[in-house]
Amino acid sequence: MKRDIKEIVSKMTLEEKAGLCSGLDFWHTKGVERLGVPSIMVTDGPHGLRKQDTSADHLGINDSVPATCFPSGATLACSWDRSLLQKVGTALGEECQAEGVSVILGPAANIKRSPLCGRNFEYFSEDPYLSTEMAANHIKGVQSQGVGTSLKHFAVNNQEHRRLSVDAEVDERTLREIYLASFEGAVKQSQPWTVMCSYNKVNGTYASENEYLLTSILKEEWGHEGFVMSDWGAVDRRENALKAGLELEMPSSNGIGDNRIVQAVKNGELKEEVLDKAVERLLNIIFKAVDNKKEGAVYDREQHHSLARKIAGECMVLLKNEDNILPLKKEGKIAVIGGFVDKYRYQGGGSSHIKPNKLDNAAEELKKAAKGENIVFAKGFSLDNDEVDSKLMEEAKNAAASAETAVIFAGLPDRYESEGYDRSHMRIPDNQIALINAIAEVQKNIVVVLSNGSPIEMPWIGNVKGILEAYLGGEAGAGAIADILFGEVNPSGKLAESFPKKLSDNPSYLNFPGEGDTVEYKEGLFVGYRYYDKKEVETLFPFGYGLSYTTFEYKNITVDKKNITDEEKLVVKVTVKNTGKLTGKEIVQLYVRDVESSVIRPVKELKGFEKVELAAGEEKTVEFVLDKRTFAYYNVDIKDWYVESGDFEILIGSSSKDIYLKDVVNVEGTTAVKKIYTRNSTVGDVMANPQARKLTEELLSSTFGQGTDDSENLGTDMTAMMKDMTLRSILHFGGDKSKEKELDKILEMLNK
Ligand code: BGC
Repeated sequence: MKRDIKEIVSKMTLEEKAGLCSGLDFWHTKGVERLGVPSIMVTDGPHGLRKQDTSADHLGINDSVPATCFPSGATLACSWDRSLLQKVGTALGEECQAEGVSVILGPAANIKRSPLCGRNFEYFSEDPYLSTEMAANHIKGVQSQGVGTSLKHFAVNNQEHRRLSVDAEVDERTLREIYLASFEGAVKQSQPWTVMCSYNKVNGTYASENEYLLTSILKEEWGHEGFVMSDWGAVDRRENALKAGLELEMPSSNGIGDNRIVQAVKNGELKEEVLDKAVERLLNIIFKAVDNKKEGAVYDREQHHSLARKIAGECMVLLKNEDNILPLKKEGKIAVIGGFVDKYRYQGGGSSHIKPNKLDNAAEELKKAAKGENIVFAKGFSLDNDEVDSKLMEEAKNAAASAETAVIFAGLPDRYESEGYDRSHMRIPDNQIALINAIAEVQKNIVVVLSNGSPIEMPWIGNVKGILEAYLGGEAGAGAIADILFGEVNPSGKLAESFPKKLSDNPSYLNFPGEGDTVEYKEGLFVGYRYYDKKEVETLFPFGYGLSYTTFEYKNITVDKKNITDEEKLVVKVTVKNTGKLTGKEIVQLYVRDVESSVIRPVKELKGFEKVELAAGEEKTVEFVLDKRTFAYYNVDIKDWYVESGDFEILIGSSSKDIYLKDVVNVEGTTAVKKIYTRNSTVGDVMANPQARKLTEELLSSTFGQGTDDSENLGTDMTAMMKDMTLRSILHFGGDKSKEKELDKILEMLNK
């Protein structure tokens, strides 16, 4: 329906306009009845609906209506499957329509800086490209149903510790290349109706008041058309937040924020046009939601449950499969052990906590999948504490000893990871470690199934033959585990994050979670595999890693051009063949390495991926189209993405560590960077410019004399030493007044 939004705004009183800029209650925007402005509902998010009817709260303490609990973000990202994320989004959109929800609060695209962050289970990846692609497709799916999303938490919210007061200090290049890049693609590709700002400060300013983030970058540079809402309670000074580009304060400010806006307009601190623009942005989305509402919509709960199972099966990652212990053979006795068997952990705690429509029980699903074969169960450990229970342990050992194979359901209990606090170590509880080791004394064939939202240390890895990283698989996750264990589904997930051997190997270790209210991102760009690659630190499992029940071969890499400019596109093709006996899916990964660079760069970075399904013996050609951004770094001098001319390697593999094919392409950067030379420029920097080189050489030889080389006298390499001298210092060592003039002339010429 066409409306004149500007006219509506012009009819609103100052108080009505200020009022629209904060929530009515926990989950609704305000309406303005006399002008036909309705109130709309927003609800968490991200991997299912948490719609609360009464007694609303935002930490998941009170009840919500049943909804499908899909696998959490950390799990979904391991699918590396854009269309799958769209399917999840579409289903979420359908449920929103059925429940009258206009905006779902998600997806969450924060980078996993440390494995300890309590909310890692909601986030996608340590890599911004994978993360932004997952987020973009989640958004496309939801919004295809006429429902909005809220891409969150913008930005640099990578820990729970002091999340409302901490200041994340991060240098500009890292901010752009890692933390913002994780949001940028999603905003540009998918236009989320709303973006949610984070609680924390970024470089000294609250995200909610950060004009640089909310206006300069999000609205102006990336072209975000919707509105920004605050995280729940993230607004400090409402008038400053409005000026910075935050249109909606959530939840209700109990009149405080509205009053501050009114006063600021009245005393001239805030221009009314700023408020008008914010109200326009709000109304555009509010009316869009209303126009897209499907009255009487319903969704098929059974069908969404089956979808949740299928999706979970595409995400779980097979980490170890010695002697092909998996899939399990149906003949012979299987002992299934662990506190998670009866209480399968399928989601994380906090605001994303969903009341599932239906919940798969692991024991039941395994019995069904084993088709009546002999399964015995034992609890083994309690989830409520970390103490070894010797009775439970003995029972489990007996069960394991009596079987051909033991499957242990281990992982992180709810109390270990949640929104609101971070973990303090990377271990699973002691009683679980003790159990795995004790079972290993009586049984050689052990498979561990893990339920956890982020990486754990595995000191027991040598004692087990199989590991299935099931992450948090949603309400049908237990069924998906049974499908994979018994070979109904061939595992095809790959890690969206590195698993370090130990916590202290992680690059943020020395600076997480910071001191007092400051956390400095001193590892810079070197997050996750970018660090492990560069420092040559061996991981337990590298980024991008995951096994299948079949095998793949990579061959024939081609690039359509060997030389391009950064304005051209490059097409890379590679053939992948299924060399095993089962149909399977492979995730083909493309990394790029800048062979030589004048700035510090990671060894390689993920720039493309495709998931392909191949029948036994089948081969397919996978195509990647690369553009400027593939080769660029963020140049802080020109405040833009910049390609430094030179050779780049295109690396193709099945993980960040397993690279099978390589080609080289020469890319010419077309952006000229104007360099300013001063008396304090180094000889080396000046000589890098061909024009300046000649002049400097002349200056050097006229100052020190032709062919002067004191290397031997001084016991040093003079040329190397000279490189880091400043132009000014040449004069100190051999110049006179005339040389100073000569130098000024050279500089003038160079800087023209
Ligand atoms: C969380 C958000 C969530 C909001 C509403 C906040 O505490 O950080 O992710 O959407 O609450 O529940």
